[in-house]
Amino acid sequence: MCIRYLLIDLNTLKVFSLLNLKDSFGESMTTNEWEQRVIARIDELKDEIVQLCQDLIRIPSWDREMRGEAEVAHHVGRTLEKHGIHSEYFASHPSIDNLVATWDTKKGTRRLLFNGHADVVPPGEDWTVDPFKAEIRDGRIYGRGAMDMKGGITTMAMALCALRDLDVPLKGTLILNVVGDEERQGQLGTTWCIQNIWKKIRADAAIVAEPTGLGLLGYTVCIGEKGPVWVRIQTKGEKAHGSVPAIGKNAIVSMLQLLQHLREKTLPSVPSPLSRDGLIAQIANALGVEEPLIENLTKSSDKSNPLTAGLEAMTKTTMNIGKIKGGVAANVVPDRCEAELDFRILPGQKPQEILDWILGQVKHVGISDQCNAELIECFEGSSIPNYEQEPIVTSVYKASKEFMGPTIYFMVPYATDGRLLRQKGLKSTVVYGPGNMTQAHTADENVKIEALIKVTKVQAIAALRYLGVEE
Ligand SMILES: [Zn+2]
Repeated sequence: MCIRYLLIDLNTLKVFSLLNLKDSFGESMTTNEWEQRVIARIDELKDEIVQLCQDLIRIPSWDREMRGEAEVAHHVGRTLEKHGIHSEYFASHPSIDNLVATWDTKKGTRRLLFNGHADVVPPGEDWTVDPFKAEIRDGRIYGRGAMDMKGGITTMAMALCALRDLDVPLKGTLILNVVGDEERQGQLGTTWCIQNIWKKIRADAAIVAEPTGLGLLGYTVCIGEKGPVWVRIQTKGEKAHGSVPAIGKNAIVSMLQLLQHLREKTLPSVPSPLSRDGLIAQIANALGVEEPLIENLTKSSDKSNPLTAGLEAMTKTTMNIGKIKGGVAANVVPDRCEAELDFRILPGQKPQEILDWILGQVKHVGISDQCNAELIECFEGSSIPNYEQEPIVTSVYKASKEFMGPTIYFMVPYATDGRLLRQKGLKSTVVYGPGNMTQAHTADENVKIEALIKVTKVQAIAALRYLGVEE
């Protein structure tokens, strides 16, 4: 045999053996092949995903006395440990241990953070099931926190486990931070972690797994949130006998005049990151109908129609008169009245603008000398600039379309820990998790098992694509 043919044969053999070894050694697999393996692995983990969500619901974590927030973190840590992921715990309070679990492949510098809160709101009344039993009915797990957000912690933890089980050669680091205190504004949770252990959790992008399902409209990728601005207004008057009311000065009447005036005026606003037309186009697309149909529906005179109300909340500042108290008895002209208002401002607005606006309206009504207004609690809104170009946003959006079907960009009208991360400078913080966001904090809170599995896939695949894979 000529030496030339021998060389060709050896080369052919080499190529052949490389092809055969490809699966067993992994490093030559393509991103797409890794994705298929991750999806298959998550299907294998289905029972463990359901079990983890149930276990977490069964740990009541709304009452500090019960140390539930710490126990949730440790239970997640024990689950991760079984998959070879080590966790660290950082106590911010005797009943809160914030968990940080990191998987660093040493193959790249990009860092992605998964953030979720261990605390829940109190169960409240009107449940038809035990809120802490995690019963399964018709393919759904019921219980306080099922979606807000023990379901979200479950999907992020199991996405991390699936990637780790397969040793996917991610070109970066994946970090899971399970925090406490979110429902009480996050001072001892995400804020505490930012102030005390930022080195551990610092990242280039983050996913906060609050529920972002929206019923018929499918799933949403939340690219920002509005800021709550709570204002207390007090009016003063002069007491008198209720039989001769004109002698006194009625503080309730002054308050009513002012509140009516505020309702009639246009609230100060700025352009929303999501335009009304853009939202209508997305909704029409998600429902598979023509845009004019949606446009007409929103023109209905019924402002409480969820579509009209939702579009209003996404694109404008809103105001809710939430609380009012005044007077002592029917036969006394009241000299004091107090109201609390909840404004939701758009990213780019300052809370002080709202207070200044109210004080301006007080002048218009002519009650400046009898009226006082102050900010009680407030946060600015925040959003991801140029979100359609942000790699983490496009990764989540694309994966959501693949696994969940119709998906739209959205903005949450309430506050999440995402705002704290964006304020810290982690602008690319996206909110995406299992469950229908309109049912958060309600009785019979539940999450679909199918959504848990699919969202685990979305989060794992989005992480894989965002960090990249060594091929
Ligand atoms: Zn939540």
